[in-house]
Amino acid sequence: LIKLKTKNYNILIADNLINNFDELIKKSYHKDKIFIITDQNVFNLYEKKITKSLPSFKLYFHVLKPGETSKSFLNYQETINSLINKGIKKDHLIIGFGGGVVGDLAGFIAGTLYRGINFIQIPTSLLAVVDSSIGSKTGIDLELGKNLVGVYKDPKVVLIDPLFLNTLSTKEYNNGLAEVIKMALIRDKTLFNNIKDKNKLTIDDIVRTINIKRKIVRKDPFEKNLRMLLNFGHTFGHAIELESNFNVKHGVAISYGMLISIEEGIKRGITKHDIYDEVKDLLIKHNLVKEPLLSKDKYLKYLKHDKKNLSSGLNFVFIKEIGKSLIKSGVIFND
Ligand code: ADP
Ligand code: ZN
Repeated sequence: LIKLKTKNYNILIADNLINNFDELIKKSYHKDKIFIITDQNVFNLYEKKITKSLPSFKLYFHVLKPGETSKSFLNYQETINSLINKGIKKDHLIIGFGGGVVGDLAGFIAGTLYRGINFIQIPTSLLAVVDSSIGSKTGIDLELGKNLVGVYKDPKVVLIDPLFLNTLSTKEYNNGLAEVIKMALIRDKTLFNNIKDKNKLTIDDIVRTINIKRKIVRKDPFEKNLRMLLNFGHTFGHAIELESNFNVKHGVAISYGMLISIEEGIKRGITKHDIYDEVKDLLIKHNLVKEPLLSKDKYLKYLKHDKKNLSSGLNFVFIKEIGKSLIKSGVIFND
């Protein structure tokens, strides 16, 4: 069992951790009802297993439609109504059991319903395991953009069983891999080298990735400075998602975004030019980008909607070389 500590909660990681869910949850929660928010895919695959793993509790499932549309304001309201109808009380527990969509919505509900109730994350997609379940951000989407409404909500614990990832499609796996590659590029050359020739991450790679994010968030939980590094590739990534009406997957969008950032860094003499092909080849290998690549010009008009675009100008993340990154403020893009 690997135990990573953050200021307010632990992240527990182990193959077959599901066998310990009951005792682990009992340690921090002493009522017998649990409200599990999940989506239809995860429910179909794991309802029996998760039910069997939690014999001490009475479980109430709320099953969402898979996909980003479940993070709408309307669905937030519907889900809360359904939980209240099922009898949820202030001292009960919500578990977000699924990918990033489930975790973000469940966390936002746990952060806002009755001004906050107990919350546990059990991420089941790679993206949720290495990224969205770590760092306490929750949120829902507006028509104007993703994650525009949210709160910071600490879970009591994050329970990670990498065996859930075995049922993930290659496409979804690679979507999460884009965030792993991002984390390696900004902070960890060894991780980058470790994952370069692999299709599937080891548990060590996963722990290493979570640790990068955990350490950044610990130093800057509310994204005043250092945490912005995690936006590497995301400025243009968000623009690409927006322009496509969210038909381009997040991992794909940030992959193009990372290449645009590297290209812009090279132009400005910030980024070592020889890394471009290395990163591009890795992203191509995992079907995250394909040639011809997207050029930034089409996306400039979407940048001003980026909520991270502060009034003092655009904060933009560059990498110097693999594993080393920096934030520049007042960055201007010309076409
Ligand atoms: P994210 O990429 O942010 O994690 P989602 O929550 O939408 O986004 O998850 C991506 C997709 O993967 C969804 O269709 C979800 O149902 C599916 N999914 C999540 N976990 C698993 C799993 N362990 N096995 C199979 N499919 C999964
Ligand atoms: Zn991201």
